[in-house]
Amino acid sequence: MTYFDAHSHRRSADSATTTLVSIRITASTEVFETDGICTVGLHPWDVTSDWRDAADITEDLAQEELVLAIGEVGIDRACDALWQHQVDAFEYMADLAERVSKPLVIHCVKAHDELLRVHKFINPAQPWMLHGFVKGADLAKQCLDAGMYVSFGAAVLKESASLIDALKMCPADRLLLETDVDEIPIHEVYAAVANVRGITTEELCAIQQQNFETVFKR
Ligand SMILES: [Zn+2]
Repeated sequence: MTYFDAHSHRRSADSATTTLVSIRITASTEVFETDGICTVGLHPWDVTSDWRDAADITEDLAQEELVLAIGEVGIDRACDALWQHQVDAFEYMADLAERVSKPLVIHCVKAHDELLRVHKFINPAQPWMLHGFVKGADLAKQCLDAGMYVSFGAAVLKESASLIDALKMCPADRLLLETDVDEIPIHEVYAAVANVRGITTEELCAIQQQNFETVFKR
């Protein structure tokens, strides 16, 4: 069995786990190093007035073979970065993903209205994966209806009722799993999700392999 971790900030040492590592690119990024498959992008927390410099660096790296997606990028109303710069940078990153034909990995906090607006505006041909989903079924449905993939992480272990509702209603072919910054093995997330959805871990692994290959073309 292989476990797929669709978004993490460190690569699992476990040979049974395939990790897509998220690398934050900023205007001061000088060297790019990766020990495997990864994503590159300007995180909304890192957006400054010179975000275009970070965008140029991301653009140069976007074609690298080990770079499977642009991300994490997005919008976050709970952080200090200037809102208009965040929106401009996010639209730029979403457009870049289209130009290089790679999916987009999205960080979105208290900004789902704006996320849906940008999605409509870009009308992407590439898959969009909303990472670290912690909200309820209504919001999940809006993002799923727009065509996005939704990725769940360690929050599912806390068993918040609204998040569990969202997890239950997410179609199998739009579901992805991740550890993000949480230092737990991905198989614990798999076990919790398999339990909630009433399937075996083997079945969940097969679904995740299929989805991972569909979204990240691997
Ligand atoms: Zn992350």
